[in-house]
Amino acid sequence: GLGIATLAACGGSGSSSDSSSSSGGGGGSAKKIALLLPESKTTRYETFDRPLFQAAVKKDCASCTIIYSNADQDASKQQQQAEAALTQGANVLVLDPVDGKAAAAIAASAKSQGVPVIAYDRFIAGVDYYVSFDNETVGKIQAQTLVDIIKKGGKTSGDIVMINGSPTDPNAASFKKGAHSVIDSSGFKVAAEYDTPDWSPDKAQAWMEGQISAVKGNLVGVYAANDGTGGGAIAALKAGGVKPLPPVTGQDSELAAIQRILAGDQAMTIYKPVPPEAEAAAKAAIALANKQKPASTKDVEGVPSTILDPIAVTKDTVKDTIVKDNVYKVADICAGS
Ligand code: BGC
Repeated sequence: GLGIATLAACGGSGSSSDSSSSSGGGGGSAKKIALLLPESKTTRYETFDRPLFQAAVKKDCASCTIIYSNADQDASKQQQQAEAALTQGANVLVLDPVDGKAAAAIAASAKSQGVPVIAYDRFIAGVDYYVSFDNETVGKIQAQTLVDIIKKGGKTSGDIVMINGSPTDPNAASFKKGAHSVIDSSGFKVAAEYDTPDWSPDKAQAWMEGQISAVKGNLVGVYAANDGTGGGAIAALKAGGVKPLPPVTGQDSELAAIQRILAGDQAMTIYKPVPPEAEAAAKAAIALANKQKPASTKDVEGVPSTILDPIAVTKDTVKDTIVKDNVYKVADICAGS
């Protein structure tokens, strides 16, 4: 049976394991929750997602334990990590897939063992729950902000190059779709486009370097899907002697990107507050580990989901977004200048 101490630690609801609850609160015995993140070059995962998810789980279920792994952009490594988590007795997988399509097989294998799966940030078909941001809107906001800034600079035509995300990340396709929906009717021309393998900042930089001589005089803006690829593009433009720098986009509000924005090197980034994403995933994981139904507000391809809103950040809005929400200490932001 269940000890009083365990029940108290998990919120003491004492609900039976098959009762359905929309709160995702405690109940049940100590559960193992596996968090499987895709990479560590993008700073969000180790700086925000991992600690915030762990804290959110502990807050609602002190007896829960977390099995953590990071796949370093290697899909087969992630499959091994998922198998290891299942072997260790994980009661639920919270999976941010390196390869969304390949992850459907991981999810199917977990489900065949009675282990529910949550798609974290990147969609996986056939899972039990999905939590993310509105990713097509991310692409639209990036592109709209870019186009507005170019026009404000007095240009109504010219070349934009697009540096998209990893072809195995379903979010990258959504960002790209949203961005094209704006750029294609903006009057600017997409002169060249690149899908960055592994979201690698180095590969984005190398590609941008190779474009400079071709587009130089006509280049009015660079659409980069996140801050890592945007940072690579900016480094390439600087090394190539492109002056002044054209506006470059990004995503994630990485500390280095906020510093580049304040320095005038990067035009914008996207702020996706990780706390609500990690908390929604933690609540859903605790509920599913206890065979309860997690609360959801949307349905995405048949998967109950929580979808959050992305926010644009420019030089003018850093204070009212990143600083206001205390994402970084002002001293840390300013240490970059
Ligand atoms: C995430 C972004 C991140 C990118 C690279 C995407 O799936 O939504 O926040 O920059 O992956 O890891």
